[in-house]
Amino acid sequence: MAAWQEILESQLGDNPPRLSIEEATILYDEADQNELLHAGLLMRRKRVPGNKVTYLVDRNVNYTNVCTINCQFCSFYRPPGHEETYTQSVDQISARFAELENIGGTWIVFPLSRLKESQKFAKHLPKRC
Ligand code: SF4
Repeated sequence: MAAWQEILESQLGDNPPRLSIEEATILYDEADQNELLHAGLLMRRKRVPGNKVTYLVDRNVNYTNVCTINCQFCSFYRPPGHEETYTQSVDQISARFAELENIGGTWIVFPLSRLKESQKFAKHLPKRC
């Protein structure tokens, strides 16, 4: 039995162990996609019996495109001082939160890691963030 099959089998048992990074990597790299999807369906049915599947509406609020992390895949960020940078005001960010609330959204993704200065926005976040 392949390693990915053993991992899936252990996940489908009672009280499955938390996946390690190594196991997750094996599943990502090697598992048969249909088998992986089927295991996910079975696990979802165990946790939430029935055929009702739910979702949430969220919004990723990019308050700035200034970033110093420099992920190689990213075409969004601009380095500090670049002519195409932008940073939204607290009012602009609040308006984006309100737009989300108006459509029933319940989850805000608000990346605080890009710049130290971004911490100043944290005090304006709703308590549920
Ligand atoms: S942290 Fe986000 S914005 Fe910054 S470079 Fe990486 S993906 Fe782009």
